Amino acid sequence: MTEQELKGHIRGIPDFPKPGILFYDISTLLRHGPAWKAAMAAMAARVTPYKPDLLAGIESRGFLLAAPLALELGLGFIMLRKPRKLPGPTVGYDYALEYGTDRIEMQADAVAPGQRVVLLDDLLATGGTMAAGVALLKQAGAVVPAVAALIELSFLEGRKRLDVPTETLLAYN
Ligand code: IMP
Repeated sequence: MTEQELKGHIRGIPDFPKPGILFYDISTLLRHGPAWKAAMAAMAARVTPYKPDLLAGIESRGFLLAAPLALELGLGFIMLRKPRKLPGPTVGYDYALEYGTDRIEMQADAVAPGQRVVLLDDLLATGGTMAAGVALLKQAGAVVPAVAALIELSFLEGRKRLDVPTETLLAYN
Protein backbone atom coordinates (compact mmCIF):
# COMPACT_ATOMS: atom_id res chain seq x y z
CA MET A 1 0.00 0.00 0.00
CA THR A 2 1.45 3.41 -0.98
CA GLU A 3 1.87 6.37 1.34
CA GLN A 4 -1.07 8.06 -0.38
CA GLU A 5 -3.27 4.98 0.04
CA LEU A 6 -2.40 4.77 3.75
CA LYS A 7 -3.12 8.48 4.13
CA GLY A 8 -6.54 7.79 2.65
CA HIS A 9 -7.31 5.79 5.79
CA ILE A 10 -6.42 8.62 8.19
CA ARG A 11 -8.85 11.46 8.68
CA GLY A 12 -8.29 14.98 9.89
CA ILE A 13 -10.88 16.13 12.42
CA PRO A 14 -11.05 19.92 12.74
CA ASP A 15 -11.29 21.66 16.11
CA PHE A 16 -10.39 18.63 18.24
CA PRO A 17 -9.56 18.64 21.11
CA LYS A 18 -9.59 22.45 20.92
CA PRO A 19 -10.74 25.03 18.36
CA GLY A 20 -8.11 25.57 15.68
CA ILE A 21 -6.47 22.13 16.05
CA LEU A 22 -6.67 19.63 13.20
CA PHE A 23 -6.54 16.19 14.83
CA TYR A 24 -5.22 13.30 12.75
CA ASP A 25 -7.37 10.32 13.68
CA ILE A 26 -5.92 6.82 13.18
CA SER A 27 -9.16 5.09 14.24
CA THR A 28 -10.21 4.76 10.60
CA LEU A 29 -6.90 3.08 9.77
CA LEU A 30 -7.20 0.66 12.69
CA ARG A 31 -10.71 -0.37 11.74
CA HIS A 32 -9.58 -1.33 8.21
CA GLY A 33 -7.80 -4.68 8.48
CA PRO A 34 -5.67 -4.56 5.30
CA ALA A 35 -4.62 -0.93 5.89
CA TRP A 36 -3.66 -1.60 9.52
CA LYS A 37 -1.70 -4.67 8.44
CA ALA A 38 0.10 -2.74 5.69
CA ALA A 39 0.95 0.10 8.08
CA MET A 40 2.34 -2.34 10.66
CA ALA A 41 4.41 -4.14 8.00
CA ALA A 42 5.89 -0.82 6.90
CA MET A 43 6.64 0.11 10.52
CA ALA A 44 8.29 -3.29 11.07
CA ALA A 45 10.59 -2.64 8.10
CA ARG A 46 11.59 0.72 9.61
CA VAL A 47 12.18 -0.62 13.12
CA THR A 48 13.99 -3.94 12.59
CA PRO A 49 17.30 -2.43 11.32
CA TYR A 50 17.79 -0.90 14.78
CA LYS A 51 17.88 -4.41 16.29
CA PRO A 52 15.74 -3.67 19.36
CA ASP A 53 15.46 -6.02 22.34
CA LEU A 54 12.16 -4.42 23.37
CA LEU A 55 9.57 -2.02 21.97
CA ALA A 56 8.05 0.67 24.18
CA GLY A 57 4.74 2.43 23.54
CA ILE A 58 3.48 5.75 24.87
CA GLU A 59 -0.04 5.74 26.37
CA SER A 60 -2.39 5.27 24.80
CA ARG A 61 -2.26 5.18 21.02
CA GLY A 62 1.44 4.29 21.09
CA PHE A 63 0.35 0.96 22.62
CA LEU A 64 -1.70 0.26 19.49
CA LEU A 65 1.47 0.34 17.42
CA ALA A 66 4.11 -0.98 19.77
CA ALA A 67 2.28 -4.02 21.15
CA PRO A 68 1.27 -5.66 17.84
CA LEU A 69 4.64 -4.80 16.32
CA ALA A 70 6.50 -6.36 19.25
CA LEU A 71 4.37 -9.49 18.95
CA GLU A 72 5.02 -9.65 15.20
CA LEU A 73 8.78 -9.28 15.73
CA GLY A 74 8.90 -11.67 18.69
CA LEU A 75 10.00 -8.89 21.07
CA GLY A 76 8.87 -7.82 24.51
CA PHE A 77 6.70 -4.72 24.97
CA ILE A 78 6.79 -2.12 27.73
CA MET A 79 4.40 0.69 28.62
CA LEU A 80 5.19 4.36 29.21
CA ARG A 81 2.16 5.69 31.03
CA LYS A 82 0.56 8.71 32.60
CA PRO A 83 1.29 9.15 36.32
CA ARG A 84 -0.01 6.67 38.91
CA LYS A 85 -1.30 4.12 36.41
CA LEU A 86 1.39 1.47 36.82
CA PRO A 87 1.61 -0.88 39.81
CA GLY A 88 4.78 -1.37 41.85
CA PRO A 89 7.88 0.84 41.89
CA THR A 90 8.01 3.30 39.01
CA VAL A 91 10.43 5.85 37.61
CA GLY A 92 9.21 9.05 35.98
CA TYR A 93 10.22 12.02 33.93
CA ASP A 94 8.61 15.47 34.16
CA TYR A 95 8.41 17.62 31.05
CA ALA A 96 7.11 21.03 30.06
CA LEU A 97 3.92 21.57 28.06
CA GLU A 98 2.76 24.80 26.44
CA TYR A 99 0.90 25.52 29.67
CA GLY A 100 2.15 23.61 32.71
CA THR A 101 3.95 20.31 33.00
CA ASP A 102 3.28 16.62 32.49
CA ARG A 103 4.88 13.39 33.61
CA ILE A 104 5.48 10.03 32.05
CA GLU A 105 6.22 6.87 34.05
CA MET A 106 7.41 3.31 33.56
CA GLN A 107 7.99 0.38 35.91
CA ALA A 108 11.41 0.65 37.53
CA ASP A 109 12.38 -2.87 36.48
CA ALA A 110 11.01 -2.69 32.91
CA VAL A 111 14.42 -2.51 31.23
CA ALA A 112 17.79 -3.99 32.09
CA PRO A 113 20.79 -1.67 31.64
CA GLY A 114 22.01 -1.70 28.05
CA GLN A 115 18.86 -3.15 26.54
CA ARG A 116 17.97 -1.65 23.17
CA VAL A 117 14.50 -0.12 23.25
CA VAL A 118 12.78 1.48 20.25
CA LEU A 119 10.03 3.85 21.37
CA LEU A 120 6.80 4.17 19.39
CA ASP A 121 3.91 6.58 19.34
CA ASP A 122 1.11 7.20 16.87
CA LEU A 123 2.08 10.76 16.03
CA LEU A 124 5.03 13.11 16.37
CA ALA A 125 3.97 16.74 16.75
CA THR A 126 6.27 19.10 18.72
CA GLY A 127 8.32 16.10 19.85
CA GLY A 128 7.89 16.91 23.55
CA THR A 129 6.20 13.61 24.41
CA MET A 130 8.69 11.49 22.47
CA ALA A 131 11.68 13.41 23.91
CA ALA A 132 10.37 12.79 27.43
CA GLY A 133 9.96 9.09 26.67
CA VAL A 134 13.52 8.86 25.34
CA ALA A 135 14.84 10.69 28.42
CA LEU A 136 12.96 8.33 30.73
CA LEU A 137 14.19 5.20 28.97
CA LYS A 138 17.78 6.45 28.99
CA GLN A 139 17.49 7.41 32.66
CA ALA A 140 16.45 3.80 33.31
CA GLY A 141 19.62 2.56 31.60
CA ALA A 142 18.20 1.64 28.20
CA VAL A 143 19.89 2.31 24.89
CA VAL A 144 17.40 3.99 22.55
CA PRO A 145 18.64 3.39 19.00
CA ALA A 146 15.58 5.05 17.40
CA VAL A 147 12.04 6.29 17.85
CA ALA A 148 9.20 5.71 15.40
CA ALA A 149 5.77 7.14 14.72
CA LEU A 150 3.11 6.47 12.13
CA ILE A 151 2.49 10.18 11.51
CA GLU A 152 4.76 13.22 11.62
CA LEU A 153 3.52 16.81 11.57
CA SER A 154 6.65 17.97 9.74
CA PHE A 155 5.94 21.69 10.06
CA LEU A 156 6.33 21.46 13.84
CA GLU A 157 9.87 20.12 13.39
CA GLY A 158 9.53 17.78 16.36
CA ARG A 159 12.40 15.59 15.17
CA LYS A 160 14.79 18.48 15.90
CA ARG A 161 14.06 17.99 19.61
CA LEU A 162 15.11 14.35 19.45
CA ASP A 163 18.70 13.20 19.75
CA VAL A 164 17.99 9.79 18.21
CA PRO A 165 17.10 8.66 14.65
CA THR A 166 13.41 9.30 14.03
CA GLU A 167 11.44 7.04 11.70
CA THR A 168 8.00 8.15 10.53
CA LEU A 169 5.76 6.73 7.83
CA LEU A 170 3.38 9.52 6.86
CA ALA A 171 4.32 13.19 6.91
CA TYR A 172 1.85 16.09 6.89
CA ASN A 173 2.78 19.69 6.20
P1 IMP B 1 3.93 16.26 20.91
O1 IMP B 1 4.38 15.98 22.29
O2 IMP B 1 3.63 17.71 20.66
O3 IMP B 1 4.88 15.70 19.86
O4 IMP B 1 2.53 15.55 20.69
C1 IMP B 1 2.46 14.19 20.42
C2 IMP B 1 1.50 13.51 21.33
O5 IMP B 1 0.23 14.10 21.26
C3 IMP B 1 1.35 12.07 20.93
O6 IMP B 1 1.29 11.24 22.08
C4 IMP B 1 0.06 12.03 20.14
O7 IMP B 1 -0.69 10.86 20.41
C5 IMP B 1 -0.69 13.27 20.59
N1 IMP B 1 -1.21 14.03 19.43
C6 IMP B 1 -0.95 15.31 19.11
N2 IMP B 1 -1.60 15.68 18.00
C7 IMP B 1 -2.27 14.60 17.59
C8 IMP B 1 -3.13 14.33 16.44
O8 IMP B 1 -3.39 15.17 15.57
N3 IMP B 1 -3.63 13.07 16.37
C9 IMP B 1 -3.34 12.11 17.28
N4 IMP B 1 -2.56 12.34 18.33
C10 IMP B 1 -2.03 13.56 18.50
